[in-house]
Amino acid sequence: MSRVIVIGGGAAGLMAGITAARQGATVVVLERMQEPGKKMMITGKGRCNITNSCAVKEFIPNLPGNGKFLFSALQQFSNDALLSFFHEQGLETVTERGGRVFPATGKARDVIAALLSALQKAGGRLVNGAQAVGLVMKPGQVTGVRYRNVENDGRKEGQDFRSSTKGRVKLGPEHTLAADAVIVCTGGASYPGTGSDGNFVPVLENLGLAMEPLLPALAPLQPEEGFTEGLEGLALKNIRATVLADGKAVAEEFGELQFIRGGVAGPVCLTVSRKVARLQHFSRAALELELDLKPALAEDKLDARIMRDFQEFSKSRLSEIVRKLVPQPLVEPVLDSAFLDGAKAVSQVSKKERQNLIYALKHFTIPLTGTRPLAEAIVTAGGVALKEIDPKTMAAKRMAGLYFAGEVMDVDGYTGGFNLQAAFSSGYVAGLNAAKQVLSSK
Ligand SMILES: Cc1cc2nc3c(=O)[nH]c(=O)nc-3n(C[C@H](O)[C@H](O)[C@H](O)COP(=O)(O)OP(=O)(O)OC[C@H]3O[C@@H](n4cnc5c(N)ncnc54)[C@H](O)[C@@H]3O)c2cc1C
Repeated sequence: MSRVIVIGGGAAGLMAGITAARQGATVVVLERMQEPGKKMMITGKGRCNITNSCAVKEFIPNLPGNGKFLFSALQQFSNDALLSFFHEQGLETVTERGGRVFPATGKARDVIAALLSALQKAGGRLVNGAQAVGLVMKPGQVTGVRYRNVENDGRKEGQDFRSSTKGRVKLGPEHTLAADAVIVCTGGASYPGTGSDGNFVPVLENLGLAMEPLLPALAPLQPEEGFTEGLEGLALKNIRATVLADGKAVAEEFGELQFIRGGVAGPVCLTVSRKVARLQHFSRAALELELDLKPALAEDKLDARIMRDFQEFSKSRLSEIVRKLVPQPLVEPVLDSAFLDGAKAVSQVSKKERQNLIYALKHFTIPLTGTRPLAEAIVTAGGVALKEIDPKTMAAKRMAGLYFAGEVMDVDGYTGGFNLQAAFSSGYVAGLNAAKQVLSSK
């Protein structure tokens, strides 16, 4: 039979299916949604940042969640190999700022179409609306997949798939499909409306596989209630953000952030969020986000600048001087955190009060409860523990015929195309080795 079943038709699953089918294995990809690649559709704001053009060794530091584990997979199927694959499918690409590679058409849909066309050409079969619900086992070996047809994916008619699946997913009767190898590519648990919601995790846990807790990575941060009220919509550029745990700096980033409803988003927050989520989950530390709103000015320079303003605008109120230093929505919060009255004439402001203002500008602190929920994260940290997986083949170490690829594993990266490359590289390696296994035992 030489059948490889791939569970999940996302980036990793489609690449695994293509690779195994190209080797000559009989491939069936089971996808629970009515279409594959729903998450890929929303990547890169619908443009799909496929990979990054940096040197392969640069991928490791950009995958802070166990990037080293992917060293072999990235060597076996690099960003260049991925781009050659897409170019062969007729998908042109463009490289933008920071080495981010996109399809030249700017449409994620075209990336998915290229993958589906390659799967079809290789003879692989895709079954949509089929949710794997279990694995068929012999002692120490996987011999098939139990699946059920999805009669209703939990969304109301016409509901956007980006919203989370609040309704109940309705499944039909159970079927069994025999397999010589199974590749689990069920993704993480963020943006559950795309189909990746962690539904297969209990199946893997029941097999006795070690799992790391699923936590948000690349997620907005969540301030304590009321602390960022009135700041929604404000974007700050060129600020230094430091995460404090019990007052101790544990992460620092420089760049942009945006205040959103109930959260703080933007590149600097996404980058530090992995650390914040882990502290929130594993520690009881009090968490804070400290913003240096004037990182280009050391305290003495900032003091000199404020003194100059005080002299030049000696008839002004303090709030008018602060407005020259920060955007309007931050004037009150900065004055409040310095315990200052904005209505005070600058001529009346004491040296101590000026020092308090400088401190508030350099250490504007937002208490955090942690990150926004996993459903809002771009990537899921945690998943199948890597000690269970051979990094050279993506095979389960303790169960014959079982492979993993993509975000279902405890690997996660920064924005910039690193997560999709991780999915494609591990998918390629899993597909290759699953096919080798099933074809050699024929
Ligand atoms: C908003 C957003 C933007 C992003 N932008 C980028 C970007 O531009 N570049 C980048 O590199 N990364 C980006 N990412 C991350 C990237 O999308 C993921 O890391 C990547 O899709 C993981 O691929 P995967 O195949 O492992 O999982 P997924 O793409 O999530 O695919 C898993 C598939 O498995 C299916 N499935 C789940 N359970 C079952 C089951 N029991 N039976 C059958 N099928 C099942 C799901 O329906 C899904 O289709 C973004 C993520 C988000 C949320």
